Amino acid sequence: MSQKKVVVIGGGPGGYVAAIRAAQLGAGVTLIEKDRIGGTCLNRGCIPTKALLADAKLLRSLKRSPVFHHLLPDNLDPLESMMERKRKVVQEMVKGVELLLESQRITIKRGQADLLGPNKVVFRNQEGAQETIDADGIILAPGSRTKTLPHLAPDGDRIITSDEVLEIRKVPREIVIVGGGYIGAEFATLFSTLGSKVTIVEILENILPGLEGELVRNLRRVFEKDGVKIYTQSSIEEIHSQEEGLKLVLKTPQGVVEVTAEKLLLSVGRAPHLNLDFSKAGVEVSPSGIKVNRRMETTSNHIYAIGDATGGLLLAHVASEEGIIAAENLMGMDRPMENGQIPTCIFTYPEIASIGLSEKEGRAKGEIRVGRFPFRSNPKALVSEETEGLIKVVADRGTDEILGIHIIGPDASTLIAVASTMIRQRAKAGEFSRLIQVHPTLPEALKEAVLDIDGRAIHLPRPLRGLK
Ligand code: FAD
Repeated sequence: MSQKKVVVIGGGPGGYVAAIRAAQLGAGVTLIEKDRIGGTCLNRGCIPTKALLADAKLLRSLKRSPVFHHLLPDNLDPLESMMERKRKVVQEMVKGVELLLESQRITIKRGQADLLGPNKVVFRNQEGAQETIDADGIILAPGSRTKTLPHLAPDGDRIITSDEVLEIRKVPREIVIVGGGYIGAEFATLFSTLGSKVTIVEILENILPGLEGELVRNLRRVFEKDGVKIYTQSSIEEIHSQEEGLKLVLKTPQGVVEVTAEKLLLSVGRAPHLNLDFSKAGVEVSPSGIKVNRRMETTSNHIYAIGDATGGLLLAHVASEEGIIAAENLMGMDRPMENGQIPTCIFTYPEIASIGLSEKEGRAKGEIRVGRFPFRSNPKALVSEETEGLIKVVADRGTDEILGIHIIGPDASTLIAVASTMIRQRAKAGEFSRLIQVHPTLPEALKEAVLDIDGRAIHLPRPLRGLK
């Protein structure tokens, strides 16, 4: 049988993972990327932000350490070194992915791709030379771009997006973050740790919409302790550029408020990057993205689409899993994307991670029971001086099945892996509570939260049980 020819458009975590999986399954793969391999995630998203946040976490721990805080000089200005380290991490990871692709004998073409038909792609390199490529299957992974607001156009200097903020050279005295989604919240943690006066302006009722309410309340409490000012149900009515910075007039439920800002970070979400001639190939799109079914098939035979460009949860691990599913289906396997089992994480201080139903969603579906455990009662959190936050578990009252786990606290992004396994295996609360956890570790807090479902948490004094 002749080798299947697959073209992947876009080299982000969706596209490059799809390319590798298709190559593993025997396809001859061409990957076309117009910018840098790794896409938003490696170059402007997950990796650079987490590199900066890792340093911020260390700085925060040192500042709060009763043992080491005095070692920090008053005039500490770590931004330049943080940016330098971030650049190196990104470079190393991009190089690593390029080597992986080469090792799979994937042809990387650098330039712009477009669709010419259901089995035809046109490629233009940076010098303008054009080539037509025939393919048995095409995987579209063009990703997303930052959204802006009509009255707040980024100028690359004072009004910036997440792309430019990753290159700033000086910690702003004051920064106003417009949009309280996860990207805005992570930058609030970063800049408040670095000493900026941070203000978040969110038009909706609360920051981090859609997240379990108790976690949001906890994060707001920490933000407020750190001096982060949050205006919800608020908008920017006027913006004046002055010599010393921007003067913003906010409309808030408390009335009109004036705020000054050296930088305004626009963080109002991302939109699918719909820059291809979809009509030529019969691929249907809507404003929320390329239309796909659970096998990641578009409306055109042999064309699949994955990642941010298809809307839904705009996250790297979702894009990668969709990439694997698309490649496997294209190569003759049959696998749907499973909904409802996607863990999400926000790398704020404290970290937030979540999977499954929230308490509200659980109650809307039927009878549930809820268990909670605060990290201040967990020995590992105490020895690490990271006692903010809690774990909340939602279980079905009748079947005892664990339906949702929501964490705010130390290493939530790692703990959620255990939670994901529980949800995936449809574990019962009773079964999990019998697993022995190592002492002293954070998973003990997870076990205690599960035990608290029926009032059996060992390290909760009686009156505190069930309290929020
Ligand atoms: P992208 O990564 O956007 O890649 C698409 C690629 O396609 C781009 O490189 C683009 O140049 C290329 N392309 C587009 N059109 C064409 C064309 N016509 N021809 C050739 N090439 C083309 N997600 C997480 O899971 N965890 C995080 O911690 C996280 N943090 C983030 C922080 C920030 C600040 C941002 C902005 C995003 C973050 N994300 C995070 C989201 C994550 O980056 C995206 O969900 C992920 O990159 C989507 O992958 P993708 O492959 O669909 O698209």
